[in-house]
Amino acid sequence: MSSDETRRGTALVTGGSRGIGAAAAIALAADGWDVGVSYLSRSGDAERVVSACEELGRRAYAVQADVAEPEQIERFFDSVTAELGAIGAVVNNAGVVSPSGRVAGYDLGRLERVFRINAIGAFLVAGAAVRRMSTAAGGAGGVIVNVSSRGAVLGSAGEYVDYAASKAAVDTLTVGLANEVAKEGIRVLGVRPGLIETEIHEEGRLERIGGTPPLGRPGKVEEVAELIAFLASDRASYMTGSMVDVAGGR
Ligand code: NAP
Repeated sequence: MSSDETRRGTALVTGGSRGIGAAAAIALAADGWDVGVSYLSRSGDAERVVSACEELGRRAYAVQADVAEPEQIERFFDSVTAELGAIGAVVNNAGVVSPSGRVAGYDLGRLERVFRINAIGAFLVAGAAVRRMSTAAGGAGGVIVNVSSRGAVLGSAGEYVDYAASKAAVDTLTVGLANEVAKEGIRVLGVRPGLIETEIHEEGRLERIGGTPPLGRPGKVEEVAELIAFLASDRASYMTGSMVDVAGGR
């Protein structure tokens, strides 16, 4: 049963069916948000996240929506708004990596896929959020938290420089949009996770390099989710345009 006194509003998480997005949805629910999650194909996982949020006393809703498709993003925002109420926080989390390889071997299809989902998708989701939350458009303001990567700074040489570059675009989106909408009641922030234990990694990668961060281990999804929930909350009310690393010192 959800309590109106502790309710912060409605938060939306792209790629909320598993990994960092699922943990972020649950952390947001624990912090008082009703949560809409999108997923690409794993509806069962998304429904488990909905149940976990409901067990925390919040309402939750899952929608299949590809962040590379503008009309599916619009449908995600509209159906969550209809189900849970006006959106006050958006976590731009959905993302993919490509198979490990050197730049010289990247073909057009690979580059289009990773930039379309990670960079263009993030822009489309951010735009959809601003159109609904901006006080200049009649909205009540809100927060956008973009999930980038330490790779944006480190470059991911020999693995996926294209992925790293798509995340650098997310960093620039964060600072540019933050300045654009600061006076419209919207804060825009980013997190740069390091090596986090999820299914995104190729087989054996975490075992191979998981011990290399200064803290000596990979991170857990909850350790990123806690930061996302903090940034989305009023506890971070004087923060905008910042990228925060959560990478064990990497
Ligand atoms: P993950 O475990 O592979 O989960 C990816 C999530 O994104 C899933 O919910 C998936 O949905 C969804 N998704 C994938 N493509 C999508 C699309 N086109 N449209 C909508 N949803 C889509 O990944 P993760 O490790 O949690 O990563 C989450 C974010 O953190 C990504 O942006 C990633 O780049 C970033 N990140 C991760 C790490 C790390 O070490 N794990 C480090 C730095 C940054 P389905 O379940 O339906 O497939």
